Amino acid sequence: NNPYRAYITIIEGCDKACAYCVVPVTRGRERSRGSDSILDEVRRLAAAGYTEVQLLGQNVNSYCDPGPGRRSFAELLAVVGEVPGIRRVRFTSSHPRDFTADIVTAIDTHPTLCDHIHLPVQSGSTAVLRRMQREYTREQYLEKIALIRRARRAISISTDVIVGFPGETEADFEQSLTLLEAVQFDAMFSFKYSPRPGTAALALDGQVGDEEKGRRLVVLQALQREIQQRRHAALVGTVHEVLVE
Ligand code: SF4
Repeated sequence: NNPYRAYITIIEGCDKACAYCVVPVTRGRERSRGSDSILDEVRRLAAAGYTEVQLLGQNVNSYCDPGPGRRSFAELLAVVGEVPGIRRVRFTSSHPRDFTADIVTAIDTHPTLCDHIHLPVQSGSTAVLRRMQREYTREQYLEKIALIRRARRAISISTDVIVGFPGETEADFEQSLTLLEAVQFDAMFSFKYSPRPGTAALALDGQVGDEEKGRRLVVLQALQREIQQRRHAALVGTVHEVLVE
């Protein structure tokens, strides 16, 4: 209910098949909304006094413009960021496989695009990512992070991590810890794997006990807390524009 921030769903459904997720079944195939209609809405919102727009989708960067403009996701970000009156544009969530360099370039060249990317990794272990059917490896994820770190603007990165996915060994879990160290995320949403009806993960062997999942979550969150405290401490004394809620 923020009078300055509006949320616009630009793509519905999901064509991926992550083994733990019900979205492809419950929300159906990916459908993108035409960029001209999105732009019209943003202009109307700006005229009504909104200054921040958040573009939403399960896989927002898989956006595929069905309209005559045929804009890529990065082009859509750019034109939304150029609407007079719009001071902040955010988007979530991005899928690492579909995350491309032109998104970073758009952020670099449009100050109205917020310098923040949420890039859910889910696990630092390639073996677990394969079982999750995430369609990228640890190395490929780290390449996307390197792409973001090469930007001229310092872009903040946040992520999601699941612990205790079926078959996750202690060594796999440690790969998630080393990934947090390697990336230095500014924020993390973390979860214990929980089985969902109708998902492929239900049939996987190597289910991890709840107590062990809980232990891994505590260890993961403690490490992330340390990282965030360091990163926050480095901001002491710097000046930032904020949107008060
Ligand atoms: Fe799609 Fe995200 Fe669900 Fe994977 S986790 S199937 S990318 S909505």
